[in-house]
Amino acid sequence: MIAHRQNVWFAVVTLAVVTCLPSWAQSNQVALRGTLVTPTEVIADGTILISGDRIAAVGKDVAVPAGVKVIETGGFIYPGLIDLHDHLTWNFLPRWKPNREFNNRYEWQAVPEYKIVLTTPEGKVFDAGLACDTEQYAEVKAIVGGATSVVGSLNQWKQPPDKQKCDEGLARNLDFYSGLYPADPAKPGNVEKLRNEVFPLELSETDVTSIKKGLTDGTLTAFIVHLSEGKPTDAAANREFKMFKARGFLRPGISIVHGVALHDLEFKQMKDAQVGLIWSPRSNIALYGDTTDVRAARQNSLTMAIAPDWSPTGSNGMLQELKYAATWNAGQSPPVFTDAELVQMATVNPAQLAHLDSMIGSLAPNHKGDLLIVRSKESDAYRALLHANPADVQLVMVGGMPIYGDPELVERLAPASELESLHVCGVPKVLDFQSEKILQGTNPKPWKQTTEGLNHALNEWGESLAQLTDCPD
Ligand SMILES: [Zn+2]
Repeated sequence: MIAHRQNVWFAVVTLAVVTCLPSWAQSNQVALRGTLVTPTEVIADGTILISGDRIAAVGKDVAVPAGVKVIETGGFIYPGLIDLHDHLTWNFLPRWKPNREFNNRYEWQAVPEYKIVLTTPEGKVFDAGLACDTEQYAEVKAIVGGATSVVGSLNQWKQPPDKQKCDEGLARNLDFYSGLYPADPAKPGNVEKLRNEVFPLELSETDVTSIKKGLTDGTLTAFIVHLSEGKPTDAAANREFKMFKARGFLRPGISIVHGVALHDLEFKQMKDAQVGLIWSPRSNIALYGDTTDVRAARQNSLTMAIAPDWSPTGSNGMLQELKYAATWNAGQSPPVFTDAELVQMATVNPAQLAHLDSMIGSLAPNHKGDLLIVRSKESDAYRALLHANPADVQLVMVGGMPIYGDPELVERLAPASELESLHVCGVPKVLDFQSEKILQGTNPKPWKQTTEGLNHALNEWGESLAQLTDCPD
């Protein structure tokens, strides 16, 4: 079912887009009630007041202005989850089960099977003109998993001119369109201060110089790199750290994704240089049979985030990776992390590593209205998130706009929107593509068309569209 509703509100929104983007929502206020997880504090029976695209107030006794809609959610309200390690345009491809362990990432990238099941179908789907469709599918997948911000987006500047806005809307793409920095019409191009690099050791000297200059002068504030991905004993993966260090990259602003082959000695150096760590246990264990020594990293007081990696070998989203990590953690003796720490690794910690903690990652006044609301029978607010299933997500809001959630709740928040219906683990949910429509200035491709088009294109190459999420039986 797709609900079609047009009214004056929608006309106002459309008009506002042409002039100044966030103004559409400036008069839009709503108060959501529930258990607030800021995430450093838990506030039972709390209220969060959203005004326009921002959080106006958070607390137990928030004064809600007269006339503002108050919604009792009965749920746990968290900052939207922040995914700093993903490869979005691969997430429409089904899970890859290589049934063997590799020593490092260069090994699996060299086997014929990888080319047949992943790189060739991905390339063919791009050749068919569906690059933006892979991005839309992946952003919805991330949102269904509770994320509001993602990294590893489609490089929209490599797309044809009419598709150079296709990262915009839905999730915040921190590497290509976060909506957090004003665009400069005099300098069209990427205004983001976060750069993501999968192969940092392959950068040219010119690029290395420019990145280091950016980190020094503040035009770049976060540089996220894949490094030392392999078995903990793999010498080649360990050596990458020495090479990276020799290029002068152990410095504030850097975050290392994976670091499976790193140990106490390297973690100490990272801590001294204020370098962060982004942990993706599921993908590590699928490919290498083991994961990063996060106990040693924690003992060295590194700032750590958790992220799902791409879904072919990692998790389908942040909630799923959190549950994987919580299960891994429960099997350690003693457990490495507290439940609260794991939740912080998906919210405030990645915000710090992205150098965006004044804008996202916490429920705090003047932060962006990026929220995740989860229904749970758990009494503990941290446990409720770690053990949530995708069907338990009541609402995902980005910049004060409801993007996804339970039909009744989204309809109350966005009565003027045309909502797309879908089922997640057998439970009806709706998507609101209004942010794509506003930001991209065109009608977004309907969800059914995106999924059918991708599936059809994949069928030609012996594959089917990936599942949107995994569901408990
Ligand atoms: Zn990766």
